[in-house]
Amino acid sequence: MADSMQSLWFVEPGRLEWREVPTPVLKGDADALVRPVIAGRCPLDVPILQGRLPVPPGYAIGHNAVAEVVAIGDTVTGVAVGDLVVVPPELSCGQCAPCLRGWTAHCTTVPYGATYGVAVNGHWGGLFDDLVRIPYADAMLHRIPAGVDPLECVTVGDITGHNNELARRHVVNGARKRVLVLAPGVTGLIQAALAIAYGAEYVLYVDPDPGNRALAEQCGAQTAAEPPGEADGLFDLTVEASGSTKWFHRGLSLLAGEGVFESLGGLTGEVPIPTWPMFLKGITMHLARPNSAANIPGALDAIATARIKPSAFYSPIVKWEDLPEAMLEPARMLVATR
Ligand SMILES: [Zn+2]
Ligand SMILES: [Zn+2]
Repeated sequence: MADSMQSLWFVEPGRLEWREVPTPVLKGDADALVRPVIAGRCPLDVPILQGRLPVPPGYAIGHNAVAEVVAIGDTVTGVAVGDLVVVPPELSCGQCAPCLRGWTAHCTTVPYGATYGVAVNGHWGGLFDDLVRIPYADAMLHRIPAGVDPLECVTVGDITGHNNELARRHVVNGARKRVLVLAPGVTGLIQAALAIAYGAEYVLYVDPDPGNRALAEQCGAQTAAEPPGEADGLFDLTVEASGSTKWFHRGLSLLAGEGVFESLGGLTGEVPIPTWPMFLKGITMHLARPNSAANIPGALDAIATARIKPSAFYSPIVKWEDLPEAMLEPARMLVATR
């Protein structure tokens, strides 16, 4: 293997470049080396690249990928060289108490919040790199099942896994049947499709973009360009990732008794919340990153059983070498293939 490789760096707001960096090597028996072959731009990468999130530039970006296993340490048994695998954005050990509960975002073995492609607490490489070192490979990597198209699996460790977990938790297990989706773009489209697949009776997908609304309607969702008023009916579940404090508040006020508010991110500042109405209604509010590794098996199953087809929402699919420019262009869900 060559001593150096190409890595896609977020250099400054609005600028990416390929950098020649040292090739990672196996550091322990539980490690693997993988080569990302299909990768995507998470919606969160957009505000990051614009310099709007508290993650200053100067690192390798990219945290959604399918990769080929290139090398494994002596104790790795779950994957083999040549396997195509889903790589979770977040690092986790699979052995500590939070990991054993499925709270892999809160692994106590790795530096807190350690994530590929987002320099939250250290620098682990990005999933557009030529090669990436995966510690705890048996806990982190999941082989793509036979019969599942790898292209469908790019966001399995991230937005597909997260939305699948929320839909199963609240629509299936919590029997919450009226769902408001305030997450314009691929995140909300995936949630709308999954909520319907899991039996929600009424899903309202809100997005000013008519093309996105048409895709949501094809999945069976109702759509609107703006959030409705309270007179139009209340919801049992709001899934929010709008980046708008106005929509955030509207999503809260449109909940019925014992309603659940799930925010997948987008806001980083202080936002006042209406405590008295929430108290009266018994609202549960949860703002969270995904438990990436824990969510992967369920999301792979949702794809294998045709509950969700994420590629229906990809646009555009570009060549790997075009990433530095393409990453800065507006797009519903940018995916690159080698
Ligand atoms: Zn993400
Ligand atoms: Zn752990």
